[in-house]
Formats: sequence, C-alpha cells, structure tokens
Amino acid sequence: MIALGSCTMKLNAATQMYPVTWEAFSRIHPFAPADQTKGYQQVCAELESALCEITGFAGVSLQPNSGAQGEFTGLAVIRAYHRDRGQATRDVVLIPASAHGTNPASAVMAGFKVVVVATDDRGNVDVDDLRAKATAQGSRLAALMITYPSTHGVFEDAIRDICAIVHEHGGQGYMDGANMNAQVGLTSPARIGADVCHLNLHKTFAIPHGGGGPGMGPIGVAAHLTPYLPGHLFREVGGDRAIPAVSAAPWGSASILLISYGYVRMLGGPGMTEATRCAILNANYIKARLEAHYEVLYSRRTGRVAHEMIFDLRAFKAHGIEEGDVAKRLMDYGFHAPTVSFPVPGTLMVEPTESESKAELDRFCEALIAIRKEIDEVATGQADRRDNVLKNAPHTAAAVTADEWSHSYSREKAAFPLPWVRASKFWPSVARIDHPYGDRNLMCTCPPVEAYA
Ligand SMILES: *Cc1c(COP(=O)(O)O)cnc(C)c1O
Repeated sequence: MIALGSCTMKLNAATQMYPVTWEAFSRIHPFAPADQTKGYQQVCAELESALCEITGFAGVSLQPNSGAQGEFTGLAVIRAYHRDRGQATRDVVLIPASAHGTNPASAVMAGFKVVVVATDDRGNVDVDDLRAKATAQGSRLAALMITYPSTHGVFEDAIRDICAIVHEHGGQGYMDGANMNAQVGLTSPARIGADVCHLNLHKTFAIPHGGGGPGMGPIGVAAHLTPYLPGHLFREVGGDRAIPAVSAAPWGSASILLISYGYVRMLGGPGMTEATRCAILNANYIKARLEAHYEVLYSRRTGRVAHEMIFDLRAFKAHGIEEGDVAKRLMDYGFHAPTVSFPVPGTLMVEPTESESKAELDRFCEALIAIRKEIDEVATGQADRRDNVLKNAPHTAAAVTADEWSHSYSREKAAFPLPWVRASKFWPSVARIDHPYGDRNLMCTCPPVEAYA
C-alpha cells in the first residue's frame, strides 16, 4: 500500500498495462502518416469523448504531458479567450493559499500575476476574502485556480458560490483536477461551475507514476473555450483559433493513453463510479479508525473527508517525535511512507484509493495505532528520548541481524512490532540518513573518463 496523499497511487492493472508493449502501438512514430495510425485515432477519440462525459465539458485536448503542463495549457486557453474578446487587460489569477505549488508556478509561466486568497481555520477558501479580491481586481481578473476536493482532502461546501463570484467579475474558473478520483461519476468540474480543468491520467486514470513519469495531463474545457484548444503544425488537432502546441507531439505521450483507455473501457461508467465511492469510503474508514489516535486536521462539518486526509503530528514535537520519524517507522511495519508535510508542514497525508482491500486498510490502521503507542512510550519516559524505535527507524536486516546490538529496545520490537509483520516482512534496504546532509554536501561519484578506456 502506497498511501501517498495527493498522488492517487492506485492499482495499475496488468490488463491495462499490457497493450503498451504491443508493437502495433509501441513502434509508431508520433508523426506517422494519418492513414497508418487509425487505431491510435480511435483510441484518442474514444478517450476524449469519455473524458468529456466524465468532466461534463465540451472538448478535451490530449496534448499536455503532466498536470502542471495541463495547468499551463488551460491558462493559455483562458488568456486567448480574454484577448479574443478585447479583454487582454485580464492578467491576474487568484489562487487559494492551500493550492499545490504547481498552480502559482504555471500561472506565472503563462504570464499572469498571482494574488493569493486566504483560507479559513477549517481549511476552506475564505469566501469573503475571495469576493473582496475579485472585486478589487475587477477588469484585471483573468481566472481563479481551485482544487476540488481541496488539497486539504475536503469537499468545499461553497464551491459553486466560489465559481459564481469569479464569473460575476468576468473571470474564468480553472479547476485543478488532480483530486478527480473523488469525483468521477458523482459530480464534475462542469457541475460545480468551472470552465477548464486538467486531469492527471497518471493519478485518477491508472497510469503508473512515481520516479518522475511519464504522465498525461489532458485538459477539458467548456464549449466557449473549445476554439482555443492547442493545435499542432503537423496534425489537425485543437480548435479553429488554437493556441500553439504545448508539446512536441500532437497527442502528448500517446502510448500511455492506452492504459487510461483500458481503465475507462474495462470499468465503464458504473465501475468508475463504484471506484470513486470506494475511494471515499476507504478514506473515511481510515479516518474513523484512527481519529481517536491522531488528530485529523480538516474535515467537513459532517465530520467526513473526501478521498484523503491529513494527520496532524505537530503536537508530538514536544516529545522530540516528528512526522519523518512516523513515516520512517511505518517502513518497519511494511508500508511505504505517506506524503509528508504537504500541504501543511508537520503532517502526514494519507490517500488509500479504492485499490486497497479492507484487510490491508486494517493492517495500515493497526500499524499507525501501534506507532501511536510507541510515541506514548517516548512521551511517558518509558522509552529513551533519543534511542527509540521511532528515531532509529527504519531498521535494516543488516542492523537487526548484526552481532552487536546496542539499543535500549529489542531486535524483535525493531523488526517485528506486530505479529502479522513477521508473516510478510519487508526489509528496508537503507537505514536512516540525515535528509539535508546530501543537499549540503555534494559529492561527485562519476568515475573519470579514463576509467572507461
Ligand atoms: C499532482 C498534482 C498536480 C501536478 O500534477 P503533475 O502531473 O505532477 O504535474 C497539481 N495539483 C495537485 C493538487 C496535484 O495533486
């Protein structure tokens, strides 16, 4: 289980992955003549229409290669739309303080100025502040970028009002669709009143990611923006008033679209909707099991979260325990660390997705409950403040099996903290390293050229 909040690390089914290896797809050049790529054209067309149905939008561009590139593309489309209507003065994008870092970065790259909107103490957009800032910008307001459900893992109650306020002042609504795994089949960007969104096919639509790629970040747009969808010199794609290409290839990293195509076709509408329900249910199950042990930072007034949640670990700092210690200790229990300190420093963000079984969710919860007991042992002085299972985690096989063992706790506690860990032990290969050390002490391990002679 890789519970990386915000990343949507779901199952990448072999049946979805397999077609990528087929030569009929993997050996086609991006600029091969159109009469030789009819299969690709069919896949792209069917995937586009599925994504239109899912987002509620009129048009989709499969060109952007990542979520961030989709943001850039969507904002360029918005700018072209304003210019076309004689409103080139619209150059300000409002972005809530809780946004993913790519949002302001993309806005600046697309030539906009960023104005930050405050969030309230429940983590939601401060609607009064938004209204004041939209009014203040007036004819300079180009767009609002908003993530829904938010990066805090919550469906904002005011989302439709928020989009309406931006429209009132002539701006466009850009919905960051990275959290689409909590929406597919239940609601949509069009339904909440957005005009553009990107989708991270490598999150919601099953393309494997991690280690840096490759991804796909198509954008969907409402009818009035379809003329501006990006074109390409060598292919007829995009609208009739298209912005220039944003990628080298007309359909981005087309081969991996097969994975999302397989996901969409094999699950179908009812299957994807069920996946969304399960993703939300799994997150709320974890919340219900763990909230007596850890504080969940944000939730709706109903007490529910969307498809992920943030655990606040800042109170444990008083005992010398930090979020990184909990993340690394989870490795001793056999779990990949969750997202650490995003979007709030001192926290862990957990997103189970629909892919995990109840048994795995239970093991994950039991591990975190056991870790909470380990924190208490430090807090009450039962365990040493410096030499404890948390501070020394993760424990490698080499360390646990060495003849010498100088710690104040047992090897068994280090490596097999719960009975089921023994049954399927995962051994971390590297012990703790001081994270900033490598950043501050650069060293070159490249052998000299002569070594290859
Ligand atoms: C992942 C993510 C992005 C960026 O997407 P990339 O594909 O990594 O460029 C943007 N916003 C949010 C909320 C995300 O979670």
